[in-house]
Amino acid sequence: MQSSVYILYTGGTFGMKNTTEGLQPSTWDEIIAYLPAIKNQNYFHYYSEIDFTFDTLEPVVDSSDITPNDWQRIAQSIEKNYDQHDGFIIIHGTDTLAYTSSALSFIFEHLTKPIVLTGAQLPIFHPRTDGIVNLSNAIYIAGYKHFSLPCIPEVCICFNDDVLRGNRAVKTSTNDFEGFSSPNFDNLAHLEQNITINTHLLQKNTNLPLDIKSTFSHRVVNVTVFPGYNPEILIDLVSKGKLEGIVLRTFGAGNLPSGKRWDDLFTTCKENNTIILATTQCPNGKIELGQYALSNVLKNAVVVVDGKDITPEAALTKLMWVIGNYPYAERIGMLSRNLRGETS
Ligand code: ASP
Repeated sequence: MQSSVYILYTGGTFGMKNTTEGLQPSTWDEIIAYLPAIKNQNYFHYYSEIDFTFDTLEPVVDSSDITPNDWQRIAQSIEKNYDQHDGFIIIHGTDTLAYTSSALSFIFEHLTKPIVLTGAQLPIFHPRTDGIVNLSNAIYIAGYKHFSLPCIPEVCICFNDDVLRGNRAVKTSTNDFEGFSSPNFDNLAHLEQNITINTHLLQKNTNLPLDIKSTFSHRVVNVTVFPGYNPEILIDLVSKGKLEGIVLRTFGAGNLPSGKRWDDLFTTCKENNTIILATTQCPNGKIELGQYALSNVLKNAVVVVDGKDITPEAALTKLMWVIGNYPYAERIGMLSRNLRGETS
């Protein structure tokens, strides 16, 4: 069956070349000029019944330079091309890919088409690149109609034969081809010799029209508690009205060091409409407020939301997005809900 796929290149190692200053992204034209299969359209002609649209998010960057403004621009490109295409591929650097995939998952509500992020650990100019496999796999997921595969109507990451929910994934290796993992949620699909899609895990189609909200608050911090940590600096910042949200990365199941000024922090947050999203520093598992005595201080605070098993990337982007798009009175309710499958 005919299928149409939109591919947006944003930069990242996938298209990087060596320069005197280190690896830097090349243009899509340079990529096409280098790869004869792409240049002669052979590579894409293999998928002869897929119409590809190529686009570039200018300027192409190392993903360390991606900003919330770029999340909005990526979303706008998808929105502009949504009706004419069956699926979308974003080629992106791996460093902040999980932030972008989490952010996009919140931006788009009631998705009916796949938005697939991919990248590479070795540039396509390298003889052992993983970029070609990753892109090919992403084409199968985005061009699902042509391959008679089930649709994954979600923002997802396709990397090294796995498809992960975008807001469940974290970058876990700077080196391995398996660069991402999904510590608290099963993979949506595996692309081995056979392709397996775990349809029972997919977000359900709501039959509601696509809704796009793409404002992100910048007045948010991510704080990792450490032994002896005291929230003095946070109290100071919140009392000066500088923070609308704090992701508080607690110990284990939600514990904090005792004898510190936590109650003062929560009172100051209440006075300044600042919300705390409590998460765990552990890559696996969730917080369970009240399990240990040292988590009760969080359990009893009205400004604190239980982040359960959310990833650090999804926690930060969810907080930025909820604050950016909803009035204060609705924020705690929105943050407590599982919006796009980001928590169990
Ligand atoms: N620094 C690169 C980037 O995030 C790393 C990569 O793409 O693998 O753009």
